[in-house]
Amino acid sequence: MIPVNEPLFTGNEKKYLNECVDTGWISSEGPFVQQFEKQMAAAVGRRHGIAVSNGTVALEAAVAALELMPGDEVIMPSFTIISCAAALIRRGCVPVLIDSDPVTWNIDVTKIESRITVKTKAVLVVHIYGLPVDMDPILALAAQYGLKIIEDAAEMLGQTYRDRPCGSFGDISTLSFYPNKHVTTGEGGMILTDDDHLAERCRSLRNLCFQQGKRFVHEELGYNFRMTNLQAALGVAQLERLQESVTRKRHMGQKYSEFLNGVEGLALMPPKMPYADNIYWVYGLVLNDEVPFEAEEAMRRLGLLGIGTRPFFWPMHEQPVLQKMGFFTHEHYPVSERLARRGFYVPSGLALTDDQMTKVAEAIKSLLE
Ligand SMILES: *Cc1c(COP(=O)(O)O)cnc(C)c1O
Repeated sequence: MIPVNEPLFTGNEKKYLNECVDTGWISSEGPFVQQFEKQMAAAVGRRHGIAVSNGTVALEAAVAALELMPGDEVIMPSFTIISCAAALIRRGCVPVLIDSDPVTWNIDVTKIESRITVKTKAVLVVHIYGLPVDMDPILALAAQYGLKIIEDAAEMLGQTYRDRPCGSFGDISTLSFYPNKHVTTGEGGMILTDDDHLAERCRSLRNLCFQQGKRFVHEELGYNFRMTNLQAALGVAQLERLQESVTRKRHMGQKYSEFLNGVEGLALMPPKMPYADNIYWVYGLVLNDEVPFEAEEAMRRLGLLGIGTRPFFWPMHEQPVLQKMGFFTHEHYPVSERLARRGFYVPSGLALTDDQMTKVAEAIKSLLE
């Protein structure tokens, strides 16, 4: 079986992990945590990095830090991971969905302005799969209407938008270090901001809102979202190799595209947009309408051929849990609905070999013949 993702540890991972064990620094108090925060913030051009236990809670802390209030509306894509909607709903905010752009699969920026109301307080931007969101129109709307921007850059570490790093946009950005991300710590995440006050709030929220001086007296309910020194040690080693990882991802994307360009029945991601080259965090495919089966069946058949796959995101407005809570009744976002049913991604991890990619591409071709 060719797994859909296998991470790569060919740098200083073991050395730094041994340092943790040898020195006894394994908790969040250890020195790698601050080193990882500093180096990651520098890598994306932010003043502050706050390491947390995963990308989902990074979003929760970001929403909490911005002091969005119950009833505040936040614009976000329908086509994304549940973490985005969950972070908003847990704070009582109302997610307002926007359909995907059919070419880039990211939020369709032309559809945002018509959904802005007096209650709109923020836009949650999510870069999906390979291309960054077209940020300029969103930055302009945010300035015009006084909206905050949260940028979920989990899939886009190492990517740029018009030469500016993803993770550096808006008021606050988040990253994930799950094993399929460009830098992994097993589980892990980070909040990034240039704002001293927001950074301080995130540090406090991450650490149960313990107070200086009166440690066990609390003015606000916080969380334990701390990252351990063990995780950060892995992260420091992984970050040293980020540029190599990004180069490899782009090579893999180009190779797959060479194999699959012109194969009838497939829509591929564009290799570039005017504002960015595709980084191919994962290699996604969408079956054209003339293909007589859906992604689920394609993935089943590829599985029989020993190829691991993953479905695309399922749209937020079609999530049973959110519908049961009364969200998105009678709403439809046809592009994201189609992506969910016709799209899936193929093995894209950093440990994937060129040989394995050839096998994957041949299996996909045989499926469509
Ligand atoms: C991976 C991911 C997350 C969640 O990160 P976890 O570390 O798995 O909690 C959030 N947003 C996006 C866009 C992601 O790809």
